[in-house]
Amino acid sequence: MPSRKRSATRKQRKEFEAGFTSLDGLFARAEAGQDELDSRREAAHRARSCERKMRYDTRADAEDAIVRCEEHGTRGLRCYHCDFCGGWHLTSHGW
Ligand SMILES: [Zn+2]
Repeated sequence: MPSRKRSATRKQRKEFEAGFTSLDGLFARAEAGQDELDSRREAAHRARSCERKMRYDTRADAEDAIVRCEEHGTRGLRCYHCDFCGGWHLTSHGW
């Protein structure tokens, strides 16, 4: 019966496509997980180096703040330009 054969072929094809779909889904999920990890790492990095810090509009403002801190006994501060907000922040790291 030709119709039976066609339906068997269609079933096979469907299973074949389903295999591809689930494989794609697997890769998509793996990539989404990696993206989520990256974005979480980036968010943590942003919180550490930007959002939790005082922001200065210009380098001069940041350097002013460093001078004020040194007057109050906090030494070893540096300022750096922030890629996240475009402002300046202070850090006590030696860079
Ligand atoms: Zn920032």
